Amino acid sequence: MQNKEFEIIGKRLFTEGLVGGNFGNMSIRSKNGFYVTPSGSYLDEPCDLKFVSDDGKPESGSSSEWRVHYKAYSMTDASAIVHAHPAMSVAASFYFDEIVPIDSEGKMLCPIIPVVSGEPGTDKLAENIGLALKKSPVAIARGHGTFVTGNSLKEAYLMTSIAEHACKIIYLTGGFGGRSL
Ligand SMILES: [Zn+2]
Repeated sequence: MQNKEFEIIGKRLFTEGLVGGNFGNMSIRSKNGFYVTPSGSYLDEPCDLKFVSDDGKPESGSSSEWRVHYKAYSMTDASAIVHAHPAMSVAASFYFDEIVPIDSEGKMLCPIIPVVSGEPGTDKLAENIGLALKKSPVAIARGHGTFVTGNSLKEAYLMTSIAEHACKIIYLTGGFGGRSL
């Protein structure tokens, strides 16, 4: 299956530097499962989406992070998920166990951003991100990237951008300083 919305949002993520090259992935919930971008795909180009069924069976070639999407859909009522690798969010994740935005939009829309650990592609990461996304639409895998839920890809992308902006403001106001890694 192809879906134009994936390409539109992929272009925005790429243009804003929220993903680089062929990193990151996106998915939308569907009947009896969800559609996810294929492994190694460039998010700003058309791609053949892969289906993952509700019983956890991924179509061959699904993104290596399909487990996180699977867990997030089973634990929340999200309709879409965007996973990106935004630099400031990743940098902030080394300093905090939870990120508390100080800018007005961040404070309003994602007042606490949980940071969790787990190696990419593992059940542990999927479980930790799933639990975090029950509390906040944005969660960060430490040293890796953001996982964001929304009612649509556009909403999940917007929250990714808002979280990255929030981390940038914390950085620019010296919030990363004085804390050891
Ligand atoms: Zn990733």
